[in-house]
Amino acid sequence: MEIYTTTPGVKQMREGVLEFLLINHPLDCPICDEAGECKLQEYSVDYGQSAGRFVEAKVHKPKAVDLGPRIMLDAERCILCSRCIRFTRDIAGDDALGFINRGSYSTLTHYPGKPFDNNYTLNTVDICPVGALTSKDFRFKMRVWFLKETKSVCTSCATGCSILIGSREEKIYRYTPRENNGVNGPWMCDAGRLNYKWIGHADRLKDVLVRGQKSTWTAALNEISDKLKKTPAGSVAVVASARQTNEELWLLGKLKSKLGAVSDSVARFGEGDKLLVSADKNPNTNGARLTGICFTEIGTNLPQIANGISSGKIKTLIVFGEDVTKHGIGADLLGKLETLIVSDILPNATTKLAHYVLPGCAHAEKRGTFTNTKGRVQKFMKAVEAPGDARAEWEFLHDLVHNVTGQNGFVTIEGLFNQMAEDVSAFNGLTWQALGDTGVTVQI
Ligand code: SF4
Ligand code: SF4
Repeated sequence: MEIYTTTPGVKQMREGVLEFLLINHPLDCPICDEAGECKLQEYSVDYGQSAGRFVEAKVHKPKAVDLGPRIMLDAERCILCSRCIRFTRDIAGDDALGFINRGSYSTLTHYPGKPFDNNYTLNTVDICPVGALTSKDFRFKMRVWFLKETKSVCTSCATGCSILIGSREEKIYRYTPRENNGVNGPWMCDAGRLNYKWIGHADRLKDVLVRGQKSTWTAALNEISDKLKKTPAGSVAVVASARQTNEELWLLGKLKSKLGAVSDSVARFGEGDKLLVSADKNPNTNGARLTGICFTEIGTNLPQIANGISSGKIKTLIVFGEDVTKHGIGADLLGKLETLIVSDILPNATTKLAHYVLPGCAHAEKRGTFTNTKGRVQKFMKAVEAPGDARAEWEFLHDLVHNVTGQNGFVTIEGLFNQMAEDVSAFNGLTWQALGDTGVTVQI
């Protein structure tokens, strides 16, 4: 069989199809959120005619229809492709959308009396070829051609969906799924997609604090290093976070070994589903296990740490990214410590009691890797600058490890990852470069 795609007949038929598609289309590209990533716009430019011949009145349909908590419909823009209906029924498993009426009057709608609401509704905005379905969160916020796209990973659960962060002038406007057949295919869940606003929160920790006073990284790290070097073995505990990267957890592991410290992390569970959403809400539980920060059962050492502080055996506590007051190490216990060193992104009850506060970065503000629930090691890139003096944890952890242990390491994330891969058996043979854009699965 031979297929001709460029003959005058084929060209004329394509123009005809596009002319029909545009007959009732409102042509409101200047105010349409899809403009810039609209298939109808692209095909019209590539294959359509420069002018329409239809002079009759267009069919008018409902506009700004509230389909559900996260989706708006402009039925006039809909080209009746049924992608959203088929995705929702066949992939999301929720037979919630359908067409009513006939011919030019066919209109998309949701099941009567039932809002369009499942874990995956926002994927219909991605697959809608036009601006008929829009995200309530993103609509009218930013023209898409102004957005810088950065390859990253969702941190809202252990699945670790590959995403693109859309940002402009150091502000994040949206997350969209990035196709990765080893993890999420072309989809992501709504909760993960919308969980970005905390990164730009006005409350972010921006200053290095030493006993409540603003300080510098050098002064604080030197003081902390001097203290840690003098601590007797067994008097230090480390509570890391399974939201930290593999590299950061590995560096913390080095500190832990040198100090003879007990360590653990905090488990975080919620509701999962059969498609993507994992019940484990930490993005790097496996990273915490593989780097030796915690054991198979994450959180089992926390009571031991609490008891150690209570009995006076543990005098120094290092906490990364967790409010330990919510996990069995209350303010009364923290008050007994000689030294409380805390790194976090947002303030909480633990940072308020800390002798040293080290402001850290969100994943969107640094580079690194996570190991997902199936052992997929994926890297993510930096999209925006961190506020104030906040600094990537792996950077200052490297300095701290160097000061305390005398070991020097790489000061680039590529070098650090490669060094970690040589040291951690599960990562043996991996390199930063070999991870590519979609990651590599390791034995967990
Ligand atoms: S995906 Fe968009 S264009 Fe296609 S039927 Fe749904 S709303 Fe209409
Ligand atoms: S399934 Fe998990 S990793 Fe994927 S988008 Fe949702 S919260 Fe993020």
